[in-house]
Amino acid sequence: MSSVKNKDQTFVAGTYARFPVEFASGVGSYLYDDEGKEYIDMGSGIGVTAFGISDPDWKEAVIGQINKLQHVSNLYYTAPCAILAEKLCAATGMKKVFFGNSGAEANECAIKVARKYAQDKKGKEYQTIVTLKNSFHGRTITTLAATGQDVFHTKFLPLTEGFVYAEANNLSSVKSAVEGNKVAAVMVECVQGEGGVIPLEEDFVKGVYDLCRKEDILFIADEVQTGNGRTGKVYAYMHYGVQPDIVSTAKGLGGGLPIGACILGEKTKDVLQPGDHGSTFGGNPVSCAGAITVIDRLTEDFLNEVAKKSEYVFKSLQGADGITDVTGKGLMIGFKPVKGAKEVVMGCLKRGVVCLTAKDKVRLLPALNIPFCDLEKAMTIILDECKVSEV
Ligand SMILES: *Cc1c(COP(=O)(O)O)cnc(C)c1O
Repeated sequence: MSSVKNKDQTFVAGTYARFPVEFASGVGSYLYDDEGKEYIDMGSGIGVTAFGISDPDWKEAVIGQINKLQHVSNLYYTAPCAILAEKLCAATGMKKVFFGNSGAEANECAIKVARKYAQDKKGKEYQTIVTLKNSFHGRTITTLAATGQDVFHTKFLPLTEGFVYAEANNLSSVKSAVEGNKVAAVMVECVQGEGGVIPLEEDFVKGVYDLCRKEDILFIADEVQTGNGRTGKVYAYMHYGVQPDIVSTAKGLGGGLPIGACILGEKTKDVLQPGDHGSTFGGNPVSCAGAITVIDRLTEDFLNEVAKKSEYVFKSLQGADGITDVTGKGLMIGFKPVKGAKEVVMGCLKRGVVCLTAKDKVRLLPALNIPFCDLEKAMTIILDECKVSEV
């Protein structure tokens, strides 16, 4: 560990305040560090390893594809890319997909599509994208601009122009943003992930959606974290009875390999034409082959299991000693520990449970297929670490 830690701290850019653990292997919802210590994984690499580590179906598809062809460029057709796009459209009722390699890239594409659509249809001045305060949309200069949190902005000015922030769960705030600007699109996370695992209210999302319909403003759902079964539906917007014009997703879609998808609806399906956009690695056959196994398993029965596990976690947390403010959807759950999120996550890590934080919350994003018994083991330790009362 110490030589890896030293090398990493010397040679890897210091963008991450890493925990003092070096992971060496894993299987399912278990991770093992370099000394062989076992951990239950309640973070899935920030919602990425949707079916755990080294999932047999995913592994077979990925290795099978590597043995055939790892890359050819987007000048040619490959089967996994086309098949995955068809499956994403079938799962969403959307029409076409652009593939990139990350959430930020999926959102960049969404923003480009929205601006081109609006400028073609309504005029050059229709450039503004409305996003919500406390949102998170990525780390590129443009997706940082989309992110409605000043703390991310200040060191990197000037950011891309044309973003306006409205209050979450405040429809009149969105209305005044729309009235005061030439708006191309509104972009929302149905559950604000990095912002503290906060689901948007149903009336608000419906209200924004209706407003968008009325004004021919595109409704973009950022499903980078909430997508691909995470909230108990294939995409979180499906809880809200809306049909977005653009859905961006990434994280869990690849099951652990880099992929981002910008899924386009009826209005937006033909906005991008040859030369408008591209990505060298986008639609890579290996990432797509893995992603197909993820999407294929998000059946109704499977999602019902996710919902049952969610209910169990919510029930365990609600009213528990030292825990307040339990929020989220499906297996995307946050809570505020009286002790402080960092302290609880550190305590859990020492006892072999990997958790995440989101602002002042502890955030849980276990693999969607985590066995109930492992979930119970992890929750016992988490609840114990949160306790503040004397026994
Ligand atoms: C993680 C995240 C992103 C950025 O994804 P990257 O793959 O890190 O670029 C964008 N939007 C949301 C909602 C996210 O959770």
